[in-house]
Amino acid sequence: MSVNHLMGVYNRAPLEVDRGRGVRLWAKDGTEYLDCVSGISTNALGHANPILVEAVKAQAEKLWHVSNIYRIPGQEQLADMLCDNSFADVVFFTNSGTEAVECAIKTARKHFSSKGESERIDIYGFDGSFHGRTYGAINAAANPSYTDGFGPPMQGFHQLVWGDHEALEAAFRSPTTAAIILEPVQGEGGCRETPVEELRWMRQIADETGVLLIFDEVQCGMGRTGKLWAHEWAGIAPDIMAIAKALGGGFPIGACLATADAACGMTAGAHGSTFGGNPLAMAVGIAAFGELVKPELIRNVNEIAGYLKQQLAGLQERYPDVIVDVRGKGLLVGVKLVPNNRDFMALARDTQNLLIAGGGDNCCRILPPLNMTMDEAREAIQRFEGACEVARKQMAA
Ligand code: PLP
Repeated sequence: MSVNHLMGVYNRAPLEVDRGRGVRLWAKDGTEYLDCVSGISTNALGHANPILVEAVKAQAEKLWHVSNIYRIPGQEQLADMLCDNSFADVVFFTNSGTEAVECAIKTARKHFSSKGESERIDIYGFDGSFHGRTYGAINAAANPSYTDGFGPPMQGFHQLVWGDHEALEAAFRSPTTAAIILEPVQGEGGCRETPVEELRWMRQIADETGVLLIFDEVQCGMGRTGKLWAHEWAGIAPDIMAIAKALGGGFPIGACLATADAACGMTAGAHGSTFGGNPLAMAVGIAAFGELVKPELIRNVNEIAGYLKQQLAGLQERYPDVIVDVRGKGLLVGVKLVPNNRDFMALARDTQNLLIAGGGDNCCRILPPLNMTMDEAREAIQRFEGACEVARKQMAA
């Protein structure tokens, strides 16, 4: 057994994962790790959460899959739950975040074509964003490291410089613009938060021009920032939203949410998926989302996030030679580093048994499960400090 028969598209860490429980992961050799990656913001309720395990087991014995040519009660139930807890009127279920983004883009273009405005096809994304790996998603983010070598850019996709307000306004006012797509808090890009005033202005100008706002909350949604949806911090809502990751607590589920008006073109035959919304995924989604909407979980996110932020600010003061900046929102924590972030992640893993994720702008991301306890948060900080100490010594050597 080796990685030789796997496409070499990942730089994998030399860690053979065996099992997990809560915030802990164990390698095959028995080494225990504190997991502050959570499958990159996915295992939001911790590994092997008993509620989710029970949901999988019960549904697995009943029914796994049927085609979407039949009614699937779990789908209707989860769609009701999502719509009751968001701006949305309708939902399309997918198996991943990138498929949810793909559906969002198609929904936006179809909205205009069904209204006789077929010239409105332009989709504007931002530098530093990440929307997944399908063709639509890589073109929407337009990051050369994901698009290079995959043929010509797709027509109608444009990239804006994050923070360039004037260019954004011009995009909104262009008569061929269909939608603007953004992560309210960028994940892979290094935990960059779009200011709430900017989000509010975007909502206003979108209403004025008819341009649709697509929010990608695949990573920052579902409680991660300390509100159920990251856009709630601005008190506004998108027209279309892509979600995934935490929605299944680790089980592959995604969804595209939309208002009835935004989705007016998504009529029978416009889109589809064999596996999207299958009974097994829906059973886990219902169980996971039922937990994610609980006020006590959101309270915990804010409590733990406040502690981590305060402690990391202290570490930044004590280790200015290691930490440049602490940013992000809630439990989507970004720490911009002096040492190379990949080296720092490896060092945290190998010397402190602490798993953290990478990110753009030389950040590392701390993405613990949302139900992390205060004792576990203290442990995470101790281990992070240990990593800072080792990094300092290595840089001084
Ligand atoms: N959008 C955002 C913001 C993401 O962070 C990701 C994955 O990291 C995706 C989309 C793609 O999701 P998936 O990997 O499930 O296709």
